[in-house]
Amino acid sequence: MKCKYGCNQEAKFILVNGKGCCSKSPNSCGGMKLKNKQGLKRKRKNGWNPGYNFKNENEIWNKGLSANNDKRVKKGKETLIFRYKNGTLIPSFLGKFHKEKSKKIISTKLKKFYKDPEERKRLRDIGRKGGFGKKGITEKGTRYESLIEKEIFEYLENKNILFEAHKHIPNSSKISDVYLIEKDLWIEIDGINREKRKKWLGKNYEYWLDKLKIYKKQNLNYKIIYNKKDIAQLV
Ligand SMILES: [Zn+2]
Repeated sequence: MKCKYGCNQEAKFILVNGKGCCSKSPNSCGGMKLKNKQGLKRKRKNGWNPGYNFKNENEIWNKGLSANNDKRVKKGKETLIFRYKNGTLIPSFLGKFHKEKSKKIISTKLKKFYKDPEERKRLRDIGRKGGFGKKGITEKGTRYESLIEKEIFEYLENKNILFEAHKHIPNSSKISDVYLIEKDLWIEIDGINREKRKKWLGKNYEYWLDKLKIYKKQNLNYKIIYNKKDIAQLV
């Protein structure tokens, strides 16, 4: 069956209205997008003036208006309801009901985490290498503090490899990046190559060396990795 919304692709979804569509929502169909665009162009050419042509940028066109006192608002509301019902529009919150729950879990995890002074040091460390701005939690719930951590954790998760992120190194307050449980292997991610940059890393470099010393002293099996490819070779 072909998509009914004009893209000429195979339909992958059957919508509530019974029509086949290439996408979950016709709004994502290339054919539909083109039609809408052309339709708007035509309307504009014919002098159509959408409600959101404000006199002043900060002014909101529908401020103080409601479906009860404004024809355009009423029409908009009706169209929206109609489209939700016939399946041509899928509310963005559909299927996202876990969100609040996940948010709480993430928030508790982070709070606990930032209380740990060693962890804060490690975070500063990552901050210095410009790793921030990309922190978050992987789909399976591992917190990451940089893009490289994210890539490595996701790689391990997808391969179903048992690991612990940010585990305390034995007999030390310092924290490792990754511990591979089955291999009993400790991994340090060195995305910036600290050895090369030790001059400007200063104290941060010393911290790093101390950490390596702890591994060596205890005869722990450890490896330094520099990128995503390295992890693939280890597991
Ligand atoms: Zn389509």
